Amino acid sequence: MHTFQPSRPIAYGRQHITDEDVQAVVETLHSDYLTQGPKVAEFEEKFAEYIGVKYAVAVSNGTAALHLCALALGVRPGQRVITTSITFAASANCVRYCGGEVHFVDIDPATALIDLQAVRWLLESHPKGYFHGLIPVDFAGLAVNLEQARQLADEFGLWIIEDACHAPGGFFTDSTGQEQRCGNGQFADLAIFSFHPVKHIATGEGGMITTNRADLYQELLKLRTHGITKDPGQMSRNDGGWYMEMQELGYNYRMPDMLCALGISQLTRANAGLARRRQLAARYDAAFAELPAVQPLASAPGHAYHLYVIQVPDRKGLYDFLRTRQIFAQVHYIPVHTMPYYQGLGGHAGDFPLAEQYYAHCLSIPLFPSLSDEEQQYVIDCVREFVG
Ligand SMILES: *Cc1c(COP(=O)(O)O)cnc(C)c1O
Repeated sequence: MHTFQPSRPIAYGRQHITDEDVQAVVETLHSDYLTQGPKVAEFEEKFAEYIGVKYAVAVSNGTAALHLCALALGVRPGQRVITTSITFAASANCVRYCGGEVHFVDIDPATALIDLQAVRWLLESHPKGYFHGLIPVDFAGLAVNLEQARQLADEFGLWIIEDACHAPGGFFTDSTGQEQRCGNGQFADLAIFSFHPVKHIATGEGGMITTNRADLYQELLKLRTHGITKDPGQMSRNDGGWYMEMQELGYNYRMPDMLCALGISQLTRANAGLARRRQLAARYDAAFAELPAVQPLASAPGHAYHLYVIQVPDRKGLYDFLRTRQIFAQVHYIPVHTMPYYQGLGGHAGDFPLAEQYYAHCLSIPLFPSLSDEEQQYVIDCVREFVG
């Protein structure tokens, strides 16, 4: 029997909303702007500063961010883009929105990140120019080594979109010993983030694109709002003060002012939340070091810990058992190439055995800043009870 009983179901992730967050939204609701007001630019500026990048573009969600990135980089039918199978489907879907082909590669089993060596083999087995882009994913919060990805990209003429949804505040150490923060645009052309409630910064719906490239930045601003520009310097003519020009087919992918106000307020706690995630992860690491049946994914100093993933022999058994204990673990991810939609495009079970093997055993257990020490101990005890 457990002495501790959780007072709430414990999910794998959850948002943390304070009174200050609520106040920030309420103030914006009473202001003149509900959609494109001053909070948008303020959030973009503060987020860019946090990430250490020149430009940030707020958009309606992470999927819209991916779609706009693919459009800005010119993805179209006939183009081929490489990504990992262990990710959320949106990382691949953005290529399909633009009519491009998705080519998956397998993972490195120690990290569950895209295997850059497998990417090289794929690139080398086709003529140069066959592939157009690469979408690496900082899965679970562990940064992909984008310096190595960039070398590949330069060698084979690819662009890079870093899907950094799991990793605001994460970093890897480059070959000169410098910390490179996820989304900082040093190696990737574009990077994207999501503010879905389970992510580090939660606004309900919301997303951000970051880049150091001024050309892509200007293009994204236009695509975010119908392909329209109001900048006289960019217009082909000017009929008067009202005049604006729709220059290409864009979308309404704007993030409203009130959600940007929430994002600004959340951002003030980003470092504290990240520190708590790392502290909780270290406690899980220590607890599971004594349980050989529980294999966590590789740790690293720059890990941003969106997820804490373990691999166990009987994953379904553990998942079901934890539910009976009010612990709602989750599986990240079902390999995208095995989804019926992608099977219809030629994917087959068995194509990427390491990703499929990982999927058979993985489980994301609760990890979020407001998870209490007692709740975490309860999760550890329940896992131990099942595997022991
Ligand atoms: C959450 C997520 C997305 C999509 O973000 P939304 O804001 O939900 O559209 C894309 N990629 C990854 C890896 C994600 O975790």
